[in-house]
Amino acid sequence: MSGSRFTIRTRAVLATTVGCLAAASCGTTASQPASQPAPAAPPATSAPISASSPATDVAAPEPTAPEPTTVTPTAVTPTAGPSTTVSPTPTGPPEFSAKVSRVPRERLEYSWRPGCPVPVSDLRLITMTYWGFDDKPHTGELVVNKAATDDIVSVFHRLYEWRWPIYKMRLVDAYKADDYASIDADNTSAFNCRPAEGSSSWSKHAYGLAIDINPRENPYIYTNGTGSHKNASKFFKRPVRAPGVINPGDRVVKAFQQKGWEWGGYWSGIKDYQHFSKGGN
Ligand SMILES: [Zn+2]
Repeated sequence: MSGSRFTIRTRAVLATTVGCLAAASCGTTASQPASQPAPAAPPATSAPISASSPATDVAAPEPTAPEPTTVTPTAVTPTAGPSTTVSPTPTGPPEFSAKVSRVPRERLEYSWRPGCPVPVSDLRLITMTYWGFDDKPHTGELVVNKAATDDIVSVFHRLYEWRWPIYKMRLVDAYKADDYASIDADNTSAFNCRPAEGSSSWSKHAYGLAIDINPRENPYIYTNGTGSHKNASKFFKRPVRAPGVINPGDRVVKAFQQKGWEWGGYWSGIKDYQHFSKGGN
């Protein structure tokens, strides 16, 4: 579990992602092979036709050769349903994979509207692997602020390496942006343009700078020590030793803290054990 290894890998992932975004070709890689000349058996005498031979020949037809791969060796299908199981490789579970792309407006049908504090163009869709409660890899989706993608991919890479389980990871739009319904379904989600709980000001979720993780195992607790979701009652107190639970000072809290994200479990008064936000609140 070397930290530097994660960092390097994550940087590589992000670098590729940035390249992908810059090339405006994200999400289209599945169709790319069709546009490339089949590399099969070049004739021995070979008049070099290849667009792939680097820069030596006559008029290279494509001046901007796209990056040959998307993100990681085992890129998953980004449009697969949220609880789709990722096929394991013959040697074990697939590597962590994350893809960052712009969010089509229609994916935010319920969670974004005009007047929200952040425009859709500042949000990003992260499609990535996570480890499930069923002890299998899955593909999930999160929407976050574009300024948060690096942090989130880095932390979730670590969670995956730890096999730290996440119950479900779908956009809150799958619940019509109803926070209560998403929590009741134990869904991990981030962006949602809504006010803070019990307040008229925007939540950090409205900026895509907050995330709620396993909200059943990590409930929101009122000052009287109870929560509003009955299915979470056995998780009202800390510490709790159970899968997917975040406890004070544990490695999940530390992983977020290292990126400047604060845990709602440290708030005084009410506790929000599921909640991490960039810079607090
Ligand atoms: Zn939250």
